[in-house]
Amino acid sequence: MIAPTWVQLVFLACGVCFILALKGLSGPKTARNGNLIGAAGAVIAVAVPFFYKPDGVDHLHHVPLILAAIAIGTAGGVYGARKVQMTQMPQMVALFNGVGGGAAALVALLELHEHGDLFDWFPLAATAFTIVVGSVSFAGSVITFAKLQELMTSRPVVFPGLPVIFGGSFIAAAVLSVMLVNQPHLWIGVVLALLGLVVGVLLVMPVGGADVPIVISLLNAFTGLTVAAGGYVLSNTVLLIGGTLVGASGTFLTLLMANAMGRSVANILFGALKGGSTLGGGEASDRPVKSAGPEDVAIMLNYAERIIIVPGYGLAVAQAQHSLRELVDVLSERGAKVDYAIHPVAGRMPGHMNVLLAEAQVPYEQLKEMDEINGDFKDADVVLVVGANDVVNPAAKTTPGAPIYGMPILNADEAKQVVFLKRSMRPGFAGIENELLFEPNTTLLFGDAKDTMSKLLNAVKAL
Ligand code: NDP
Repeated sequence: MIAPTWVQLVFLACGVCFILALKGLSGPKTARNGNLIGAAGAVIAVAVPFFYKPDGVDHLHHVPLILAAIAIGTAGGVYGARKVQMTQMPQMVALFNGVGGGAAALVALLELHEHGDLFDWFPLAATAFTIVVGSVSFAGSVITFAKLQELMTSRPVVFPGLPVIFGGSFIAAAVLSVMLVNQPHLWIGVVLALLGLVVGVLLVMPVGGADVPIVISLLNAFTGLTVAAGGYVLSNTVLLIGGTLVGASGTFLTLLMANAMGRSVANILFGALKGGSTLGGGEASDRPVKSAGPEDVAIMLNYAERIIIVPGYGLAVAQAQHSLRELVDVLSERGAKVDYAIHPVAGRMPGHMNVLLAEAQVPYEQLKEMDEINGDFKDADVVLVVGANDVVNPAAKTTPGAPIYGMPILNADEAKQVVFLKRSMRPGFAGIENELLFEPNTTLLFGDAKDTMSKLLNAVKAL
C-alpha cells in the first residue's frame, strides 16, 4: 500500500524534524529544543495514519485497542521520565531502546503472518533481519537494565559453554533467515525470534558493569537498523528515515565512547570471554593518605588563583552540583579563575556531567572539554576532584594491563595541589587503585559530596 503524496510529504517533514533534533542534541544549549522538535516529529508521524485511507481502503483495524496502547505507552513514558534519577538514565534509555527493538520484531512477525506469501525475496530478508536483530536488541536491553538496576550482578557472567551456544545460535539464525526467504512460514519467524533472544542475552552477560552503557549505545544502533528494515517491510518512509538516523548515531556514539575509554568494541563485548578483565568490583585500599577537614581545604581554595574542578560519577550520586556551583561562584567573585574539566566518560553516560551541571545553571563557558583544558592543569593551584576517580587515574598512562590503560585522562596529577572529595578509599568503577590519592600534594576530604560540599562552601564564605 503506497501512502498518498501528502502523507509522504508529512513523513518527509518528520524526517527533517529528526535530523534537526539530532543536530540540537549535539550541544547542551540546544539540546532541549532538539528534544522537543524530535518529539513533535514523532507525535505527527504516529498521528498521520489515523487521517488517510490508502487506495480508499480502511487500513486501520482495532482503533480503540491502538488508542489504548498509545495511552498506556504515553502514561508509562511520562511517568518513567519524570520519576527517573539522573544516575538511572542509562537503564531508562536501555528500557526504551529494548521495547523499540521488541516492537519492531513483533510487527515484522505479524507482517510475515499476514502478507509473507506475497513478499519478494528482499522484503523477506528485511523481515528476517528485523525479527532477529529486534529480538537481540530487546533481550540485550533487558539484561543491561537488570545489570544497571542491580537486579542481577553487574560483573561479567561467563560460563564454559557460552561461546559455543552463542556461536551456534548465531549460525542457526543465519541459516533460518535464508530458509525464511525461501519459505515464508510463521514458525521459522518464531524460532528466529527465540534465537535472537538467546543471542541478545549471551551478548550482554559477559559485559562488566562499567561497559554496559557502551553496549546500550550499540543495542540502540541495532534497534535503529531494525526499525529501518521494518520501515522497508511496511513501505513506511518515516520509519526508514528515523531508523537509519538512530542506527547511524548509535554506531557513532558507540565508537566515540569506546575511543574515549581507549578500548575496542570487540574488547568491550568479548574481553571477558578471553579471560581479560572487563571492569567492575575492587577492594578499598588501606594505604595511608593525607586527609583534611573542610576548613583546611577552604583556606587552600581561598588563596588559589587558578582552580580546576573535575566532576565525576560521585557528584551525580550525591547531587552536590548546586552547592558546587555556589562554591565556584563565590571563588570566582573573589578573583580566582575557575573552570570545570569535563572528561568524555565522566559519570555513567555520555554528556552526564554536562547535563548535571547545566541543571545547576553552571554557565556553558565554564565547562571545558578534556582536550581544551588538559594543558592548563600544570598551572592550576588547586584541582578539586568531586566524586571522580578513573578519569584522573594516572594508571591509564603508566600501567599497561590496567583495565583503563590507554584511556585518555585529565592531567590532574600535574597540578600543584589536588583535593579529592570522596567517601572512602574504595576505587572507581574500573576497580583499580588510583596512585594519585597517595601523592604528597594530594589531600582527601572524606564524606558524602553533598554534605562536604556544603561544609566547604560555608567554610569558604566564613573566610
Ligand atoms: P568513578 O566511578 O571512577 O569514581 C567515582 C568516585 O565517586 C569514586 O571514587 C567514589 O568513591 C566517589 N563517590 C561515589 N559516591 C559518592 C558520594 N556520594 N560522595 C562523594 N564521592 C562519591 O567515576 P568517574 O566519573 O571518574 O569515571 C567514570 C567511569 O565510568 C570510568 O571508568 C568510565 O570509563 C566509566 N564509564 C563511563 C561511561 C560514560 O559514558 N560516562 C560509560 C561507561 C563507563 P567512594 O565510593 O569512596 O565515595
